[in-house]
Amino acid sequence: MKDLFSTPDDTEVSALSRHWNAVIERLGNEYDERWMLRFVRPLRPTGQDGDTVTIDVPSQFTLDWVRNRLQDTIEQFLSDEIGRPISIELRKIQAARETVASTESVVITPQTSVGPALFVPNPIYRFDNFVVGQSNRMAHGGASAVAHDPGGQFNPLVIYGRSGMGKTHLLHAIANEVRKREPNVRVEYLTAQVFAEEFVIALQTNKIDAFRRRIRSAEVWLVDDIQMVLGKDKTQEEIFHTFNYLQQSGRQMVFTADRPPSELFVMNDRLRSRLEAGLVTDIRLPDTETRIAILKTKAESKGIELSFEVALAIAEAVQDDVRHLEGALTTVSVEASLSGQPISLELVQPILARNYARVRPKPNMSLIISVVGRAEDITPEEIVGDSRRAPIVMARHISMYIQRRITGDSWKHIGKQFGGRDHTSVLHAVQKIDAMIAADPAFAAKVAWLTDLVTEGPELARPVPAPRG
Ligand code: ADP
Ligand code: MG
Repeated sequence: MKDLFSTPDDTEVSALSRHWNAVIERLGNEYDERWMLRFVRPLRPTGQDGDTVTIDVPSQFTLDWVRNRLQDTIEQFLSDEIGRPISIELRKIQAARETVASTESVVITPQTSVGPALFVPNPIYRFDNFVVGQSNRMAHGGASAVAHDPGGQFNPLVIYGRSGMGKTHLLHAIANEVRKREPNVRVEYLTAQVFAEEFVIALQTNKIDAFRRRIRSAEVWLVDDIQMVLGKDKTQEEIFHTFNYLQQSGRQMVFTADRPPSELFVMNDRLRSRLEAGLVTDIRLPDTETRIAILKTKAESKGIELSFEVALAIAEAVQDDVRHLEGALTTVSVEASLSGQPISLELVQPILARNYARVRPKPNMSLIISVVGRAEDITPEEIVGDSRRAPIVMARHISMYIQRRITGDSWKHIGKQFGGRDHTSVLHAVQKIDAMIAADPAFAAKVAWLTDLVTEGPELARPVPAPRG
């Protein structure tokens, strides 16, 4: 067989290449780009023998994934292109490295027969390296109880908190612990986003029964970032039925979210009240002491030597997200090894100053209305004022929304700050913005951008300096 990519002139092969590009394009219309990058773009058609096209696949994992989920679609699209029924033969390339379990992805062990896919948790995320402090004590306690007694007292367990607080870490820790104690327990982990995508594909390819069989065979069901299904009615409905099914059979469920369940506004009421009825725990920003302990743990696991004073300097410079804390640690250790120096305060301070010294005022109401006002061309006074002009009302609602989401201030407090409004009007504003975000991706992107400006780039909101002279 000829190699498609080393002999581009060959007419038969370049015809195949053309057909393949058309298939990729059609798949691209139907699947998210993340999936395309991960599973479709790495595929290489290497030749055609009669009605069979051979496709090289970089890893066993991708091969199983494609075989279980995409093979029929690819065959159908290729047949359309070539003009007669075509089947494909998937072939794993030898040299390729197997995909290693990554945090945010579903990893399914190779399995060709229909049946429950076994999720392989990331071995790095365990209870013994999860640092417990005031900020996460409850969530850790709940997760650990669930891991030791799945389907017991706390079902479902709900863990919520901002990004980078260790929610995914805890889910994997549960999976690792359960499997350690009982290797045969079926643990399913999915981000809600992946659930939604797989559900849609299952519907499109008439594989909904197999999909349900797989999900419903879970004995421990871990669903990460449930807020991702906001506004996706059918997916929510499916999760609701799955929930009921699993609950009736006494299976353990754990959900994470970026906000408390009571604030998953654009969610099917029945599903939301199921979540609210569980053990609901939050994870907040860790205090300095906990951040230092996290740094120490991470450093140890990476074989990096870290003195207390250096850990303290990093913990004080990086306060917002544990992920950034790890990033700072990596930066520091890379710079140390490049310059051949030990990780000392002298080495670290300029690095921190360079990367993290950007003075970040803590997001508060005045910052938020100045950022939103500037972007929308509306003055802060108008935002907190009484005007009912539509653009002003919208800016007001967006500001309230951002304040609630990033500061977690009470409805009452926000109402008071926004010109003494009633707490219910703040609640309604936030619900309205949630509904708009769910319905309109462009609007969602705009709110995300404004939120970034507030949290990441407040300097943009500062008044432009007056010209000199
Ligand atoms: P989330 O899912 O809440 O966005 P992750 O679980 O992905 O956050 O955590 C981000 C990073 O921070 C991971 O590397 C995780 O191991 C680490 N981390 C967060 N909290 C802790 C903690 N309490 N102890 C140790 N590592 C932590
Ligand atoms: Mg996560």
